[in-house]
Amino acid sequence: IVQAQGIHKSFGRLEVLKGIDFEVNEREVACLIGPSGSGKSTLLRCINHLEKINAGRLYVDGQLVGYRQRGDKLYEMRDREIAVQRKDIGMVFQRFNLFPHMTALENVMEAPVQVRRESRTAAREWARELLDRVGLADKEKSYPAQLSGGQQQRVAIARALAMRPKLMLFDEPTSALDPELVGEVLGVMRRLAADGMTMIVVTHEMQFAREVADKVAFMDDGVVVEEGRPDQVIVEPRHERTREFLARVL
Ligand code: ATP
Ligand code: MG
Repeated sequence: IVQAQGIHKSFGRLEVLKGIDFEVNEREVACLIGPSGSGKSTLLRCINHLEKINAGRLYVDGQLVGYRQRGDKLYEMRDREIAVQRKDIGMVFQRFNLFPHMTALENVMEAPVQVRRESRTAAREWARELLDRVGLADKEKSYPAQLSGGQQQRVAIARALAMRPKLMLFDEPTSALDPELVGEVLGVMRRLAADGMTMIVVTHEMQFAREVADKVAFMDDGVVVEEGRPDQVIVEPRHERTREFLARVL
């Protein structure tokens, strides 16, 4: 469902992605690991077209991300087309980014009502179902400030799911949480994976990666250094750079 082919991305003169090849199939969970600054977040942001790539091809669900092809020419999409494309991709960040002035329920209802033009009644019903799925049925009237970090992050996941995405991107969803709250968020993500959601997860939670991922890609300095089954990459890495990184985080 995701195909990245020779992706290059620079910020000014700093080349952050130096030719990334990476694929994720439908219903797969891919974990991206690697040191700070290796380009993991940038790659996720390119997949969602929050950043424009400088070279390479990026497909999500068979569609070129951010561009239309006519003949052999590429045309940049307009904002409206980009928004349509992005509807199929849910994203959860390190910081929860909930709307502070809305309750949990209203946060989850917002996009279906505003973007998908669903009726408030239908959106409310769907939002309740999603809050129930992330274990927060009893918190629908709470405002973000009244929720723990773990609860806020679970609302953020429900909110991303509300658009019925085909792909979910997670950028270190547990790294801003107190240790005792990490498990509840990973639990929700595990269930999502078990239900067949296609997911790309940037994480330092190696246990989660080992147990849940179908594939793990280790990035360093803008390239995918090695990629494979979690046991292969995390337990028996082939590359010295992977071994050094794992020695630091495990
Ligand atoms: P971390 O584990 O710390 O989150 P990362 O692997 O996600 O790291 P990125 O956030 O992708 O790394 O950043 C890769 C490099 O790109 C870094 O050197 C960063 O400073 C740089 N960078 C990222 N975004 C921008 C931007 N908008 N403008 C300029 N430089 C940027
Ligand atoms: Mg990052």
